[in-house]
Amino acid sequence: MHSRHTREVQAPTPRAAYVHVPFCRHRCGYCNFTVVAGRDDLIEAYLDAIEREMASLGEPAAVETLFLGGGTPTHLSGPQLRRLLSAVRRWFPPRGDCEWSVEANPGDIDETKADVLAEFGVTRISLGAQSFDSEKLRRLERDHEDEHIRRAVAICRPRFASLSLDLIFGAPGETLEGWRRDLTAALELQPDHLSTYGLTYELGTTFWGRRLRGELASVEEDAERAMYESAIDTLTSAGLEHYEVSNFARPGHRCRHNEVYWSGGRYWAVGPGAARYVGDTRSANHRSTFTWRRRIEAGQSPVAESETLSPEEQAREKLVLGLRRIEGVSLREFQRDTAHSAEELAGEAIERFLEWRLLARAGDRLLLTRDGLLVSDSLWPELLQGASAAGR
Ligand code: SF4
Repeated sequence: MHSRHTREVQAPTPRAAYVHVPFCRHRCGYCNFTVVAGRDDLIEAYLDAIEREMASLGEPAAVETLFLGGGTPTHLSGPQLRRLLSAVRRWFPPRGDCEWSVEANPGDIDETKADVLAEFGVTRISLGAQSFDSEKLRRLERDHEDEHIRRAVAICRPRFASLSLDLIFGAPGETLEGWRRDLTAALELQPDHLSTYGLTYELGTTFWGRRLRGELASVEEDAERAMYESAIDTLTSAGLEHYEVSNFARPGHRCRHNEVYWSGGRYWAVGPGAARYVGDTRSANHRSTFTWRRRIEAGQSPVAESETLSPEEQAREKLVLGLRRIEGVSLREFQRDTAHSAEELAGEAIERFLEWRLLARAGDRLLLTRDGLLVSDSLWPELLQGASAAGR
């Protein structure tokens, strides 16, 4: 017999790190990330602060995956990038065949910056293409054109082992035909990886206010689902593996860093708004770049919120994150890794979703069906709450 107390599982040491770079040339209307637009005068002070935050680790933490996201890391100048990357390498030294991803915007990346990234060991570029259609890009308030994407791809191809493109669907006024043209244009560039996200209207963005005032109309739910299905069909027919709800990769090009998130793994994070999972605790820094910096400059912790998860909460999260992966969750491995069975955590909800054919079993694995993929976000709350939510 095992009691809850004797089944605790030791949290692994993080082998992944995320670095947030909050600067952008301007703020896109739909964006609710931690971003400072048009304040390049703050970049040097940011670099001082992030170096100090990393130094608070005390000693370097070797990692197998690194991810520089934003904002727009490539908005930094060549010398600023060089300073950031050398600090990152010092505190998060890449081990072995470390995957090092950097987000880039098509309008920002040039040969000089790409050379700096390659020189420091960056292996993977994630390019915020979003669309190849000028009108859609304008509506999204992006500041690039399709030729910038092609130029950026030409710059990155010879320098980096892996290239990913982000695409958005469901922009105001977008049609299924228009979205299909975007998919075709993206495939013509032969990316190693594609991420496709449905546009969401977030509180606090200008898009949120414009939609409330009736200036922007979101696409119908059915149309958005058709766009998502068309992405799955088009991209998998082109030989990309659909490996997570929103992500597709050529063999050998899955994003290993994001797979750490989806497997419930641990990771460091630094920068304004950055969220980490270390030991049993999830914590996040202040989202305001000013507050984050002020606190670091004053020798205080930049952490704004922190939550220590019980072994059961950790297991529930791991189940939900794992189901985002198309291969689903091996129930045997899940029990081995968490000391909880999925049935015990959320048996009623799982049974119901199996009956509704939103989940399926394949041997030892529990996974989303095609119908489940289309509504996956609505399943997670019930699985996180488990048996107590079932049957309500
Ligand atoms: S470029 Fe990306 S991070 Fe910057 S404002 Fe636009 S959507 Fe947000």
